[in-house]
Amino acid sequence: MPAELPASTELQAIKNLKQIAREEFILPGTAICGGCGGLEALRLAAKVLGPKTVFVNAAGCFTLLAVFPYTPFKGSWLYTTMASAAAGAQGVRDALDVLMARGKMSAEDDVEVVVKKDLFAIWLAHRPAYLATVSPRYPVDLTNKFLKAKTRRGPKLFIAQAPCPTGWLYDPEQTAEYAHLAVETGIFALKEAVEGIVTHTYIPHRRRPVEDYLQGQGRYRHLFEPRRNTEAIAHIQEQVNTYWSEVAETAGLGRWESRPPRGDRKV
Ligand code: SF4
Repeated sequence: MPAELPASTELQAIKNLKQIAREEFILPGTAICGGCGGLEALRLAAKVLGPKTVFVNAAGCFTLLAVFPYTPFKGSWLYTTMASAAAGAQGVRDALDVLMARGKMSAEDDVEVVVKKDLFAIWLAHRPAYLATVSPRYPVDLTNKFLKAKTRRGPKLFIAQAPCPTGWLYDPEQTAEYAHLAVETGIFALKEAVEGIVTHTYIPHRRRPVEDYLQGQGRYRHLFEPRRNTEAIAHIQEQVNTYWSEVAETAGLGRWESRPPRGDRKV
């Protein structure tokens, strides 16, 4: 957290794409696949977090982001084993706190520590300072969530929807389309939790059928070939319907909005 900001300071939310920072903190030319939705989400997040950030990266695709002696990060990057990202981040946080407590580092030099992991429900049970899901196809929503989290003290988690052309088997140019369909079919919910209170930041009223999202991705080809598995597709649709019915019925668990976050509509 930047030292000049009191913990209670709210950063001003943005309303459109033009208000997203133009400066890049993750530079192009990495070894990551073209069309990687995860990298786009990370790039947008870095624009909010700025250069004084330590990215703690568990082993996975993003290991390829920084291959010594090259790095695309303007900030710092720590690579850990698969199960050690959270422990690595806590270690960095503790080390920075010790340095500041001993007067060996000024608060102005403090940095953000970011971990990539997927655990909304588990984290919610622990009432973290901030918890959110984000999509690279909804950059205004994503930016505002990072702005909201930036001034809150304590553990914060972001779960990014990250379309993967290499693993999901679709053309890289369709990344934005699948990120869009994931949200518009209701398969991926855009939501946040502040001190344990969940709010859906966008609720698609007229959800598109899940089939629109499943069809065309090679990983789901077995649902459509050699013959259509109607029962399995209906089961997936039913699970999505149940989730959103519960959201609608649970008082205070979300507010209905009929349109995507302003500024994300024409992306
Ligand atoms: S395999 Fe998928 S998630 Fe990994 S870098 Fe490539 S596109 Fe991104």
